[in-house]
Amino acid sequence: MSYALWLAGISLVFVVLERVLPRYRSQRLLRRGILSDALYVVWNGHFLAVALALLADPLAAHVDQWARGALGVELHRDAAASWPLWVQFLVGLLVMDFAQWCIHNLLHRVPFLWTFHKVHHSIVELDWLGSLRFHWLEIVVYRSLQYLPLAFFGFAGEALFALAVFNTVIGHFNHANLRLPIGPLGYVLNNPAMHAWHHVHPSAGPVNKNFGITLSLWDWLFGTAYVPAEPPARLGFEGIETFPETFPGQLLYPLPVEAKVRQLTARVRSPQ
Ligand SMILES: [Zn+2]
Repeated sequence: MSYALWLAGISLVFVVLERVLPRYRSQRLLRRGILSDALYVVWNGHFLAVALALLADPLAAHVDQWARGALGVELHRDAAASWPLWVQFLVGLLVMDFAQWCIHNLLHRVPFLWTFHKVHHSIVELDWLGSLRFHWLEIVVYRSLQYLPLAFFGFAGEALFALAVFNTVIGHFNHANLRLPIGPLGYVLNNPAMHAWHHVHPSAGPVNKNFGITLSLWDWLFGTAYVPAEPPARLGFEGIETFPETFPGQLLYPLPVEAKVRQLTARVRSPQ
């Protein structure tokens, strides 16, 4: 079954779950920004990821050749190829998720990177579809870091595919408008109670908490876990009122051209 079909099936399950066990009962299925988020399914979630996955193998071969030729270093290419699939899955999950947790910290703590990550945090009614709203440059960084090392060390396509599906399930789950406690599993897996607080507006609670992507483990280990009993009263960031709401506006943000396009549009709307 293709990834697109898995994505459709998983999404359908969360559409139903959100109706049955909502965190915010007043949140509608057709909430604000849903149309532009639907475009992210095509732009980020599938084609870009597939293109990067296809590039990973030739790029890994190139790095291998370069290390041998220019540096005279013998890298252990395909070292993971002989491991059982479940070991490849577990190692891939732990290594890549920790790398993503570190990058996610940087995205929040380095002002230049935060301007890119703001696109993801611009969602004010969090649901499963929000897990796909990311600035395209962020996807390039995340996916390259995921696929390149895994392709280099010879992880099997089946293990990578299972990892992609698992990450999608947990990504949908932790962004979903769900009140579904998972008990002690919450110390390992990212979940809606934790991730909603990651999206809190600074006026409603402390920021820079719960950086976990698929695993929450790292937040508990490094002291950034924060899970009050009740969900946050408001999501977003300072200045969200003026953030672009359209898909093209978010794609251009934070490139300098975005401000120019905005000025031009304003001038067209009110010519004097
Ligand atoms: Zn974030």
